[in-house]
Amino acid sequence: MNIASNIETVQQKIRCAAEKAGRNPDEITLIAVTKTVDSEAARQVMQAGVLDLGENRVQSFLDKYEALGDEPRWHIIGHLQTNKVKYIIGKVQLIHSVDSLHLAEEINKKALALGLSQDILFQFNISGETSKSGAAEEEAERIFEALSKLQGISVRGLMTMAPLLADDSETKQVFAGLRKLSEKISTWQYPNISMDYLSMGMSGDFEAAISEGANLVRIGSALFK
Ligand SMILES: *Cc1c(COP(=O)(O)O)cnc(C)c1O
Repeated sequence: MNIASNIETVQQKIRCAAEKAGRNPDEITLIAVTKTVDSEAARQVMQAGVLDLGENRVQSFLDKYEALGDEPRWHIIGHLQTNKVKYIIGKVQLIHSVDSLHLAEEINKKALALGLSQDILFQFNISGETSKSGAAEEEAERIFEALSKLQGISVRGLMTMAPLLADDSETKQVFAGLRKLSEKISTWQYPNISMDYLSMGMSGDFEAAISEGANLVRIGSALFK
């Protein structure tokens, strides 16, 4: 496993995909998903210049946080239970996987108690695949109106995952669907809601996601092989 060279390869592909889409590569951030590797491998990622790290489980985040502290920007990308929120507030840069109003309210409460505002993304299930987390698009207006009133969170954008077994055109449709939804939400002009980030694309589909507007790509297996 040569992490530095894998990172270079992926970054090159990110640049190519951006240029092909007529986009500035510098606006796309690679988040290294370290969920399958230990703190030592995560440290190698940082040494190769990637300072955004993603974890999908609270416990494995906390283990790495203990080893690596605040130097990386931490991203929580996996389904989050409300009873675990208290362990991560104040430590993580961005929670990508907020998939219900109930969870957002809990994050709000814990952040306010610490006197801070937590940046989050809201996760949508664009494909409708039942095994995926995320709210349905039809719920967006009700949810965002409520989110805009929570002072302990700041909504910075949207996240989605493509279906596991989708073909290329279906994958693209899902990513385009999230982009269109973010454009629609922008027109509502709710306070406390901005659509700065589209978090979409993993090892198998980040190029498609970039062509549809992703600016946060979450990549694990392509870096650790
Ligand atoms: C594991 C994971 C990724 C990275 O997936 P790879 O296919 O290993 O790149 C991205 N997003 C989420 C939510 C994940 O759980």
